Amino acid sequence: MTLKPFLCIHGHFYQPPREDPLTGECRDEPSAAPFPNWNNRVTAECYAPNAAVGNFARMSFNLGGTLARWMDDCVHETYQQIVSAVYQHRRRYGMPNGVAQAVHHTILPLARGRDKRCQVRWGIASYVHRFGVQPDGIWLPEMAVDYETLETVAEAGLSFVILSGEQVHGDLSRGAGPYLVRLPHGRSIAVFVRDRDLSNYFSFSMPEPEYTRPLINEHLSRSAPGALTLIATDGETFGHHHKHGVRVLEALTTPESSDAYEITTLARYLREYPPQTNVEIVENTAWSCAHDLGRWATGCHCTPGCGQWKGALRRALDNLSRDIDEIYAEMLCQRNLAPWSLRDDYVRVLLRQISGPRFLAEYHLGHLTSMAQRRLLDLLEAQVYRQRMFVSCAFFFEDLERIEPRYAIANAVRAMMLVSNVSGDNLTRAFRRDLRIAISPGTGRTGAQILDEILAGMNFDEDVSPDVLGDARARLTAHMPAHVVAAQ
Ligand SMILES: [Zn+2]
Repeated sequence: MTLKPFLCIHGHFYQPPREDPLTGECRDEPSAAPFPNWNNRVTAECYAPNAAVGNFARMSFNLGGTLARWMDDCVHETYQQIVSAVYQHRRRYGMPNGVAQAVHHTILPLARGRDKRCQVRWGIASYVHRFGVQPDGIWLPEMAVDYETLETVAEAGLSFVILSGEQVHGDLSRGAGPYLVRLPHGRSIAVFVRDRDLSNYFSFSMPEPEYTRPLINEHLSRSAPGALTLIATDGETFGHHHKHGVRVLEALTTPESSDAYEITTLARYLREYPPQTNVEIVENTAWSCAHDLGRWATGCHCTPGCGQWKGALRRALDNLSRDIDEIYAEMLCQRNLAPWSLRDDYVRVLLRQISGPRFLAEYHLGHLTSMAQRRLLDLLEAQVYRQRMFVSCAFFFEDLERIEPRYAIANAVRAMMLVSNVSGDNLTRAFRRDLRIAISPGTGRTGAQILDEILAGMNFDEDVSPDVLGDARARLTAHMPAHVVAAQ
């Protein structure tokens, strides 16, 4: 039998967190009518029908942590079908077709090294928790990449990432590859390169289902036998952005013997065809911004209007992170604990695999008073909210005066409350100072005003004593649903 070219579809399935970090409540989303919110609507249009026809078992995909957690809680049957699809693939081919995702959808090149490591390790732990197996690859949020990110991914034992053609330099004549990227400290990692034009064609001009396979047959007629072509795009393209996308995805992933291609998944293909050619990456690039990550850092033409607030918000969050980290590291070092590896391991508590006190007991801290244990756990919990501040959607859109940046500030408030409760340090003043120069282009209001509005809503401000903050925290936590406190 003649060897045919291969096709793989990779879907990035993701929704940003929809719960208010301070109340745990989902906002009303009337635009999602007749569904109560967009998660339910996208489930009905995309996740459920794709799961029902078996598309998840025939493609490569990643399922974002926030979305996976919501599905597990709210649309469990669909969630179970997706988990089973990975089991099916694994039973049939010996490896999973799912891919991990950096857990809070942080733009990794903009994060410092230890935060990159935390995001990747928490993403892997979350994947193992859901799918019962180690992932082979990881999805880099927005495909944002630099060498340090790839070092982190390789160091965590993963084999591949996915990038877009414009993010790679070298001979790309072997289609999607995989290609080998040699890393500065001696390691290397495989990179699959998506076909940008073909991926965008499906994202923006979805063909009719009956034309799908003829179109791919024609497109791949120039491919070498055995070579791979990769379509990688948002999973919601298939069913939510384009209603007939579910049938298109089904047609794409079920070629017949008369078709000119075969379908595969990334992990399967990597085993059969390890990388032969080296390429280099273009650092600080992403699939949705061609301006050195300006979309999430300094502002750029990707969003209309003045995006200077993005740089100011990021600076405020970075400064706050440094303050929170100093307090955390100092307290942990006093107890001869390695703060950053302990934080990496804390994901087991987030995933509810182990209780906080048992986790501390494993680190020989079980003898501490319950108050001392509580303080350590509060500092670890503050690190969770401090990680969540950097979700990419906080910076993605055009205005500071949107729900996404507001949630970033609300996550910061949660982190500050937990830290104040333990150390008595009030971090609010410096944070407010920094947020004063983050100005909404739409309303002219500053990040400091948004912060004050959030604090006023909680009856919590900088002049109250740490004891009062502790009470406020206790009240808040008492009203917090368990899944909000739990991991993503
Ligand atoms: Zn841009």
